[in-house]
Amino acid sequence: MHCPFCRHTDSRVVDSRTSDDGCSIRRRRSCPTCGRRFTTVETASLTVVKRSGATEPFSREKVLVGVRKACQGRPVSEDALAVLSQRVEEAVRATGSAEIDAHDVGLAILGPLRELDEVAYLRFASVYRSFESLADFEAEIALLRAEHEPTGREPEAAGSGSG
Ligand SMILES: [Zn+2]
Repeated sequence: MHCPFCRHTDSRVVDSRTSDDGCSIRRRRSCPTCGRRFTTVETASLTVVKRSGATEPFSREKVLVGVRKACQGRPVSEDALAVLSQRVEEAVRATGSAEIDAHDVGLAILGPLRELDEVAYLRFASVYRSFESLADFEAEIALLRAEHEPTGREPEAAGSGSG
């Protein structure tokens, strides 16, 4: 980043401070040529591409609103919701790309939401994955049930091929 005063192409960071929400860093810089100081703000850009093709900046708040709706009436605390939306943001940022499909944001929500509350998960999944019949719910519930089976026991007693 060049100096805004003399256009020198280098600058020295004299102070870095992370914003309260952790989403940006302010850097105080000093120009080695003219000695003047200036500030830069650094954020990791993350754009969500909707199905319509429209884009909008990623919003943790939007994730929170969607998940909160699915959790209505469930014993899920606001703290847990905040942690979940933070995990979702970390997961989508971890992809390292500057753009992400809205679909993939939904995918990133499903995993942590299932750990949090399975009923809320089913609600969210039914909308997000467009469940169309009871069979869709049944299939999803069967998957959840299968994961509740005690682990450590191999399902081989009845021989292979049963299903
Ligand atoms: Zn300068």
